[in-house]
Amino acid sequence: MDPPIQTRSPSLPEATPAAALRIVERPITWNAERRRLSLEYLSLRHGLTREEPVIAPVMVVLHATESATLSSAFHTFDPVRMPAGERPFLAKASPLNVSAHFLVDRDGTLVRLLPETTFARHTVGLNWCAIGVENVGGTPKAPLNEAQARANAALIRHLAGRFPIRHVVGHHEYLAYRKTQLWKETSPTYFTYKSDPGAKFMKQVRALLVDLSLEPVPSP
Ligand SMILES: [Zn+2]
Repeated sequence: MDPPIQTRSPSLPEATPAAALRIVERPITWNAERRRLSLEYLSLRHGLTREEPVIAPVMVVLHATESATLSSAFHTFDPVRMPAGERPFLAKASPLNVSAHFLVDRDGTLVRLLPETTFARHTVGLNWCAIGVENVGGTPKAPLNEAQARANAALIRHLAGRFPIRHVVGHHEYLAYRKTQLWKETSPTYFTYKSDPGAKFMKQVRALLVDLSLEPVPSP
């Protein structure tokens, strides 16, 4: 395992070179069933027939776990199927469990759960083209912090160097994409209202990424 990224140093430049980015590998379970359920989700929910559950990312969606620790977040995403009785509205849409590509710990440590081009269920309508980044915390007791904002920005900069990322979106903003070509969801009634990670955090992250000239979030 790589040592964690040092994001708290005040000398860390905003434009962290991709080569300097340290990412801890802690993969969630990926097996034949997760592959099959991911293909099924792509077909049933996004209306996309794929040979493999892969994505060509053009977007990064930032989230907050609203859980206290990285370990509890990891164990939320690790099971292949949504645990029985949990999130019934989501479970009815697909038995595939939610996940993300990255977790960002409270100190800014970046943890990769899945390869960036593997399908993950984290944002209705947009999973087919979006890398998901979950930040540990986002509760009144554990609000998202500056180390996390800097780590998110460094990660997005790194990803934008590898993929044609044009959109950086807070999960609470995602419904603005319903009227765009990026939105792919077969049911007009399948969506939920989200508040994570919040406007303050997105403002912090975007302030570190101005030079990337990302597309603005569509107006509602
Ligand atoms: Zn979210």
